[in-house]
Amino acid sequence: MCRLTFPLVSLLFIAPLITAAPPATQCGHPFHTPCHEHNPRPWRRLSDAIIRRIWGLPERQKSLGAPSGEAPIAGGVPSGKLLARYGEDIVMRFNISSADEASALAEASDILFLDVWEFNENWVDIRIAKDVVPSLLGLLPPSLQTSHVALMQDLDLAQAIFDSYPSPSSTQTHDDRSFTPTLRTSSSTENLFFQDYQPLSVVIPWMNLLASMFPTHVRRINVGISFEGRDIPALRVGVHPTNGEQPSDPRKTVLVTAGSHAREWISTSTVNYLAWSLITSYGKYSTATHLLESFDFVFVPTLNPDGYVYSWETDRLWRKNRQPTSLRFCRGVDLDRTYPFQWDGESSRGNPCSESFAGDSPFAGVEARRFAEWAKNETENNNVNFVGFLDLHSYSQQVLYPYSFSCSTQPPTLEDLEELALGLAKAIRISRKGRSYRATSACEGNVIISKNTPDGKKEKIVLPRIETGGGSALDWFYHELRVKHAYQIKLRDTGSYGFLLPKENIIPTGQEMLDAVLYLGRYMLGTVGLEDEETENSKPLEGQKPTEQIPNEDDDAEGYEEVTGVEEDAADEYDTLWELRRRIKR
Ligand SMILES: [Zn+2]
Repeated sequence: MCRLTFPLVSLLFIAPLITAAPPATQCGHPFHTPCHEHNPRPWRRLSDAIIRRIWGLPERQKSLGAPSGEAPIAGGVPSGKLLARYGEDIVMRFNISSADEASALAEASDILFLDVWEFNENWVDIRIAKDVVPSLLGLLPPSLQTSHVALMQDLDLAQAIFDSYPSPSSTQTHDDRSFTPTLRTSSSTENLFFQDYQPLSVVIPWMNLLASMFPTHVRRINVGISFEGRDIPALRVGVHPTNGEQPSDPRKTVLVTAGSHAREWISTSTVNYLAWSLITSYGKYSTATHLLESFDFVFVPTLNPDGYVYSWETDRLWRKNRQPTSLRFCRGVDLDRTYPFQWDGESSRGNPCSESFAGDSPFAGVEARRFAEWAKNETENNNVNFVGFLDLHSYSQQVLYPYSFSCSTQPPTLEDLEELALGLAKAIRISRKGRSYRATSACEGNVIISKNTPDGKKEKIVLPRIETGGGSALDWFYHELRVKHAYQIKLRDTGSYGFLLPKENIIPTGQEMLDAVLYLGRYMLGTVGLEDEETENSKPLEGQKPTEQIPNEDDDAEGYEEVTGVEEDAADEYDTLWELRRRIKR
């Protein structure tokens, strides 16, 4: 775990290093990749209060989450014990081509309590101990005996787990490069926070930092309290044009959430990236500025803080929350199965050991209930109108719209949902180095396959569900809270690394999702299709050179000039502080 306390003398010691370093400013910013020199920001702005906000962390936070007897990670490096847990496991992908095969696999994974990582209409990924493989194959039809491959063959699971934590050596490399002026390029200075996945003890001070540095449009809020007593932290980002007066219309608000499933670290880092991008772009770039004047965004990087901490300190592949169940040795409720709309926990009621355990009753999952209560209260008492809901997960690269619980019930706004889903997927695909995401219904994404019949026609085969799809956040927000634009987005990748996605993907995934969020914004503002999208994206604010665009990461640094906005100092200060913090940590 990171070092959160440090002697003041160390701050003084490194001061000359920082002042000598080139300014971070906008280098690597998604709206502004190029770097250019200007005067380093003075130290005087590093007030005691800000330092306390970044590094100060309540004792309570540090003591939570590491059960006695378990060896937590130290200095960001997982212990041997933690790694040994999965040393004998592999991930197998079964290619599915018939309903019988899907049924057999669903049944077998139930019998053997297997951990189904991900599934879609073509394949099912299952994590399994090597010595259980023969038992599994014994339960499967002959056709499946041969139609499987081992994923991540080049590296074992324990190694992939190890690689997903920040390593001291990579930190060393980044820092050294960042503080060598001649090597300072956009790729090495993208923003050190996003060079690694970050534990909750770093994420929360980072969120506090953003709120303290951009008070005009950022507020740090909590959207609930976890079972173990942690805050569920969030950032509310937006500019109210009425400036203090109570607006007459409810404030249109977009919820962007992640981390319901603890091990999906890329979802958490992506929400942080989206928050940071919009926050630091306000007042500089027209799209972001317009967006934040028109809507509030509430970014919730981890809905499941207990599970997230547990995934960092004890079990990298933990999925559920951490509340006890009726079975002493099987903790946790699947927070994406516990919402009351079409809750179908009856089927899994007797199986708290299932990775998809929905709880004993609707809303049994503590964090889901409290988050939903918060959201309801916002709409009923705080003049909020939720118009968008993006729930980020991993993996499989899909944009999924309601309903999740069943394919036989059509959502009332199906056409709109489909249209926007396709738009979001396209925005991702044409993004800077964006990947291909599939847009489909959340139910179909899991249970229907198209097959070529002998006469050359496409035939749809409905597969039995590998897991149930009821009680999802997606359906609840769409149906109960009437959130018009509701999506679950499964991020990178498609199985090469699964939940253990290498950290080099953090920024590219953030960038492709940022383009999706900007598209969503234009869609809600009604400007999609009215003008060339690139032109709209790059529209400069007053005083800005007309040549400016939101650049690609490979673009040359020359020819760009940022608008001098009210937040410029804060952005510089933010970068400096963050780099400073990284150096102190080591
Ligand atoms: Zn998930």
